[in-house]
Formats: sequence, structure tokens, C-alpha cells
Amino acid sequence: MYQPPLTDMRFVLSHVVDLAGLTKLPALAHADVETVEGLLEEFGRFAAEVLAPLNQVGDTEGIRHDPTTGEVTTAPGWVEAYRKYVDAGWGSVPFPPEHGGGGFPWLLAIAMQEILSSANLSFSMAPLLTQGAIDAVLHHGSEQQHEQYLRRMVSGEWAGTMNLTEPQAGSDVGALSTKAVPAGDGSYRITGTKIFITYGEHDLTHQIVHLVLARTPDSPPGTKGISLFLVPKWLLDDTGEPTDERNGVTCVSVEHKMGIHASPTCVLAYEDAVGYLVGEEHAGMRAMFTMMNNARLSVGLEGLALGEAAYQKALAYAHERHQGRAIGAPPGHQSAIVEHPDVRRMLVTMKALNEAMRALVYLNAESIDIARHHPDAAERTARDELADLLTPITKAWCTDLGVEVTSLGLQVHGGMGYIEETGAAQYFRDARIAPIYEGTNGIQAMDLVGRKLPMRAGGVVADLIAAMRATAAELEAAGDELAPEVEAFVYAIGAFEEATTWLLTHGATDPRDALAGATPYLRMAGTVVGGWLLARSALAARAMQGGGGGAGGFDEAFLAGKRTTARFYLTQLLPQARGLLPAVTGGAAALEVPLG
Ligand SMILES: Cc1cc2nc3c(=O)[nH]c(=O)nc-3n(C[C@H](O)[C@H](O)[C@H](O)COP(=O)(O)OP(=O)(O)OC[C@H]3O[C@@H](n4cnc5c(N)ncnc54)[C@H](O)[C@@H]3O)c2cc1C
Repeated sequence: MYQPPLTDMRFVLSHVVDLAGLTKLPALAHADVETVEGLLEEFGRFAAEVLAPLNQVGDTEGIRHDPTTGEVTTAPGWVEAYRKYVDAGWGSVPFPPEHGGGGFPWLLAIAMQEILSSANLSFSMAPLLTQGAIDAVLHHGSEQQHEQYLRRMVSGEWAGTMNLTEPQAGSDVGALSTKAVPAGDGSYRITGTKIFITYGEHDLTHQIVHLVLARTPDSPPGTKGISLFLVPKWLLDDTGEPTDERNGVTCVSVEHKMGIHASPTCVLAYEDAVGYLVGEEHAGMRAMFTMMNNARLSVGLEGLALGEAAYQKALAYAHERHQGRAIGAPPGHQSAIVEHPDVRRMLVTMKALNEAMRALVYLNAESIDIARHHPDAAERTARDELADLLTPITKAWCTDLGVEVTSLGLQVHGGMGYIEETGAAQYFRDARIAPIYEGTNGIQAMDLVGRKLPMRAGGVVADLIAAMRATAAELEAAGDELAPEVEAFVYAIGAFEEATTWLLTHGATDPRDALAGATPYLRMAGTVVGGWLLARSALAARAMQGGGGGAGGFDEAFLAGKRTTARFYLTQLLPQARGLLPAVTGGAAALEVPLG
């Protein structure tokens, strides 16, 4: 059964990103490192004891939809588990105290989300969507909307959803046609069909607050004409309490899916539903982006979370399962499969990729905190830019790796991995959605190349490359002991720089060339950034070795493991980055292959 990897989480929080530094910012000053670590430990216990045991039940039992009433019933044990989650106040941790939140860093929320998603991905999506809806209302909603909705969404008493997709409007959100007609009293009447709405209907909460993108009459075509509306499942009375009057939104069906069986994916029919404008008319995309940026980080995190859970399961199985005689074992002996070099390679690859993903996800979250809360404007801007650059990389690289790492986990199990009862297959099936939703990974790559690289005329990515070169110089200064790491790292940075320059130059002359190389470029970027962060981990571990584990009290075996894992990544996985260069720089012409 899943156990939160608290030691590695603590290491990354304090020695790859700077949790202690964050807690010194005036806005986060009440959140000291000890409290954060204590919360993680407690939440880890809750997730392992209450949520992880429901993961397989959710997969096999799934959810039930009543077509007559439109009601959705979650899997056995779900309602009770959600009640415990709310009673403990776990969902409120990163939100402002004036709305009932804990005022803790986003970094803590993300670390908690890693645990939550590892323990039970389907369950995690209810709080995740609510968190996105809170963000949109918090940043764009009116005072009245804050008062009426935020406190109960922050506490988790009410859930939230995010309604973009329609049958003809998936990646092309601007094609949506749901209508919002002014009712004359300040409210609107919403009519249209939304598909694939996560937790669009369920029995975890009484009230569900739908955030819906729609068009007002005579709005301009495309994304410019889109507005955001808040549509409660139950209408409120004058005092803000839910009445027993149902709004005009019904779950007409739920999807049968490859994975995340316990997370309801709903078709919602809106018929003259009462909706309230959030922010300005026609500014819906901007408001939605507030939700999407955080959601993209959280979805990227799902790749890590399932990769970690899959690793733990595969490692346990590799110790248990005996098959074949390992080289050097006595004749007639059946060795544990972990002793076979090929199995070991799979496990080490999983571990190294997980640790690289964790470092990236946490750096992205830390950047969001600093961009929001640092007193110095220049520091805020620099971290805002870094978060913007990293977000598509985190989303797409980590979710692609989530599929690969869970697939390796399944492979370690051999035939039993393909059999459902081990649970290895569930991780693989569950992981497959993450490269698709929250903007497909192809769309993320286009965002990286088309919008993020050109930021400050390439200055933001140049700053990142300079930071990597500084780490390479630190490695070099450490002497011969780290020479293999230095060589591999410098070689990969060179490839990344070359690819970046090519894209910036060719993107300006023919965007088709840049878009043709966008996905391999994003893969290269993730691979190199992951290497950078593991190089920093190795340096930090080295500094603490032989000194009682430093401030964190890490034991020598753990610190040595950080270094060997980093060496494996840098010398065995990172060289793949340069291999991607021809695909990045091949241009659109390379794709002119008849498809039949
Ligand atoms: C389980 C599940 C849960 C979901 N939850 C939600 C939710 O809560 N709320 C919500 O609003 N939506 C949700 N979605 C919808 C999801 O975000 C979309 O499925 C996703 O954005 C892709 O849209 P699409 O399915 O229409 O695919 P399409 O847009 O048709 O894409 C098909 C393929 O074409 C590519 N493509 C499309 N346009 C371009 C382009 N311009 N350039 C290059 N490539 C392109 C895509 O990358 C993809 O590979 C969910 C979907 C699923 C399956």
C-alpha cells in the first residue's frame, strides 16, 4: 500500500527549493518549516489510511448515474472519506485566512496534492476542481460572490467544477456556443451542452458551484467573446443559503472511461440556468486562465503522483517475486527479480524520473508563491516569468512520464501487471488521461514554443539556461569526483541552447517549422531541467554527507542515494536530450510524409 515519500519530499522542499526562505516572506511568515513538515506527515497518514484503501474500490465499483433524476452516486466509502477530508480542513490549507483558509504556501498545497493524487487520483479530482473554481472566484469574482461562495468552497462544504468543453469545442475553446442571455436583473440565463465535466454531478457535497464559459448575445467570435459565469446547482436565497430550488443544470449522462473510474465525467445540459457573471463580460478566457495555470501544475503533478505510487508497488513486487537465477547466485536458487540487472534498470529509471519530476513540480509551485508574495517587484516578476515558462513543461513532461513510469511499473510485474488485481494496471490506465485534459500535451508544446519562448525576446529562457550553467560550474568546481555528471550536463545544456536558438529564429520566419518541433523540444526541455534539478540535489546531498545529515537529519544512505540517482539520471537518461535535436530542428518539411 502507498506510503508518502516524506523524506524525499522534505529534501526537495528544503534543499532544491527553499521552503525556509518562503516562510520568511511577510505574507507567509506564520508558516514555519516545522509546521509545514508536521502537516505533511499528518496528511500523509490520512491519505494512506483513509484514501489509498478506496483507490481500488473506486476503480472496480466506479460511479452510478441515475438517468431519471440525473443524480450521480460515488463509490462505496467515498462520501464518508470526503466528509473526513472536509472536517480536517485539508482543502483550505493554501487559501487566504479571510475566506477561511490556512494562508499556507502554494508549495505546501502542491506537496499535499502529490500525496492525495498518489493515494487516490479519482478522489483527488474533486478537491482539485474545487480549488480551480475558488481561484477564479477569488481573483475575478465580486464582493458578493466572495461572501456567498468562497468560505464554503474553501472549507470543501461546497464543490466546484470547470466547464469549458463542448462537443465542437475541445482544444479550440473559442468555438464554444453555450449562450448566456441577460435576464434584466443582473443575472443571466445559460443554455447549452457541456461535455467531459469532471465531478459535474456527485453526492460528495450538496451544493456544486459550476464555473461555465458561455457567450452573451452579439459577442465577438472566438475567445474574445467568451464570458465566465457562476452557476450554482441549488439557487441561493437572499441570505445566501441554498434553497430547495434546483437550477437548470442536469447531468444527462456519464462517460465510460479507460481509467479514473471513480471520478464522474459528466455531460451537463444547461437549460435557462441562472448564472452570474464572474469578472467582466468578454473577459472569460482571462479568468479561466487563472484556473488553468494552477490546474496545469496540478495535472502535471498527477504524472509524478502516479509514477511514485507505481514505483512503490513495483519495488515491493520485485523483492517478493522470485524468478530465474541471478548471475552469481548458487545453482538451483530462484532469485528475487530485483536482482536481475534489467529489472533494476526499470526501477532505477522510475525512481530517477520521479525525483526529477518532484523537483520540477515543487520549483514551479515555489515560483508561484514568490511571484505572489515577494516584497521585491523584480523578484516577483522574475519568478512569475519562470512559472510561466515552466508550467507547460511541468504539465506535459510530467504527464508523459507518468504514462511511461506507470508502464514500467506494470512491466516489472510481468504478466501479473496486466492482471487487474495487482493494481499496477490501474495506475497505468489512470495516468493516461493526464496528457489529454487541461490542454493536450500538444497544445502545451505549442504554448511553450509560441508564447513562452518569445517572452522578453527569449530573455526568460536565456535566464534559465544561465542558471543551469551556474549549476554546471558548481559541479565542475567540486572536482573530478563529479566529472561524469558535468560532462553529460554541459553537453545537454548545449543541445537545449541550440534548439532554443533555432526555434526562436525559425519561429519568427515560419511558425510551421517551430510548431513541427514543439513536442520534441518540450521533451528536451523537461529532460534538461530535470537534470539541472537533480544536479542541484546531488550538490546539496554532497554538502551534507559526513556531517550528520545537515539540518534535515537525513541519513547517510539517503544522501548517498540522492547522489547515485542523480548520477544515473545525468549520465544515462539526460543524453537523450541531444538525441532530440534533429526532431526539433527538422522543420515542417520533415513531416511531409504521405499519410494515405
Ligand atoms: C476524463 C476527462 C475529464 C475532463 N474534464 C474536463 C473538465 O472538467 N472540464 C472541461 O471543460 N473539460 C474537461 N475535459 C475535456 C478535455 O480538456 C478535452 O478533452 C481536451 O481539451 C481535448 O479536447 P478534445 O477532446 O476535443 O480533443 P481535440 O481538440 O479534438 O484534439 C484532438 C487532437 O488534435 C490535437 N489538436 C487539436 N487542435 C490542435 C491545434 N490547433 N494544433 C495542434 N494540435 C491540435 C490535440 O492535441 C489532440 O491530439 C475532460 C476530458 C476527459 C477525457
